[in-house]
Amino acid sequence: MAARRGRQFLHTPGPTMMPDRILHALARPALDHRGPEFLALAERCFAGLKRIFRTERPVLIYPAAGHGAWEAALVNTCSPGDRVLMCETGAFSQWWKDMAAALGLAVDYLPGDWRHGADPEAIEARLAADGGRDIRAVAVVHNETSTGVASRVAEIRRAIDAAGHPALLLVDTISSLASIDFRMDEWGVDVAVGGSQKGLMLPPGLGFTGVSEKAFRAAQAGTARRSYWDWRDMMPDGETAGFVCTPPINLMFGLAEAIDMLEEEGLEACFARHRRLAEAVRRAVAGWGLELNALDAREASDSVSAILVPEGHEAEAVRRIARERFDVVLGVGILKLAGRAFRIGHLGDLNAPTVLGALAAVQASLAAAGVPHDPRGIAAAIDWLTGEATDE
Ligand code: PLP
Repeated sequence: MAARRGRQFLHTPGPTMMPDRILHALARPALDHRGPEFLALAERCFAGLKRIFRTERPVLIYPAAGHGAWEAALVNTCSPGDRVLMCETGAFSQWWKDMAAALGLAVDYLPGDWRHGADPEAIEARLAADGGRDIRAVAVVHNETSTGVASRVAEIRRAIDAAGHPALLLVDTISSLASIDFRMDEWGVDVAVGGSQKGLMLPPGLGFTGVSEKAFRAAQAGTARRSYWDWRDMMPDGETAGFVCTPPINLMFGLAEAIDMLEEEGLEACFARHRRLAEAVRRAVAGWGLELNALDAREASDSVSAILVPEGHEAEAVRRIARERFDVVLGVGILKLAGRAFRIGHLGDLNAPTVLGALAAVQASLAAAGVPHDPRGIAAAIDWLTGEATDE
């Protein structure tokens, strides 16, 4: 194979591109995890994560994929046979639902069309109809990575309150954390599930759960069998996060660096950067004459866009050409969107030239794959980024 130079642009919606500062931080020799240097670093990470999740409550760190944090959320808050209300938003809601069923929970799955977020009104209606107050938890994927649609979590909280229902609110914030506004305490989220390989710009391998007081009380009363995931072992006092296993020391070096980087930028500025770059992608899509999968502009994700290819064309051809000829890696269409959509991840360590580079490669790949499009798409993104185009 011919030698390649320059960096490959990894525009999958996680893992994301890792900045040099984080790569360097990861590449240190491990430390004694019981020694003072590591304990101070862990304290910094636990405190910093609270600020990123916007919570006063503890955020636990598991050496695990996001799936582990999902399981931790479910086995701590729910007992076998409990009812859980989940909302069909796409592939990730489906896999979370399948996990809940495998754990012996009774899942009510609110149907969705994969083009909208979870519907607050439907949630309110379902909760209002639950006269026995049997539903233990409502579980929602904040940013559905497979469809490029973000659900309106604050409105879902209001819907639960309007129904006067005591259900816990569990939110998967894996592909929204540190890229799209998320406020655990203000939005009354009981369990926030996160992961390292997206907005935090780290390798995969860390799963997080932010745990409200109410969720911790549920964990104390719950009867699900659990060991590794047990919050009671990781924070016996319900307040102070710790580890029961050898901590993921090098990932923690990276996490501390990621928190510093996010705080140097400022979370609000970080969200605004993602919004601006996401809008450049959306302008390009509209300029090409292609269709964004997200149908409601309020719900179009600022961290990933799923783009539909016209009937008779193969999304996979665009993706293959982008990777093989232009060194830009796009996200695959998953399950219902397989072959029908490709995804551009636009989260993490990104700026305007990165996004313009990716969009130019996508445009070139559309042309090479024979997908009909208007080549003024890239110009629309440039106009937006230069301030020539404004909000309509
Ligand atoms: N939830 C969402 C929204 C995701 O995007 C992902 C991964 O892409 C997951 C859950 C699963 O995370 P992991 O692959 O780290 O288990």
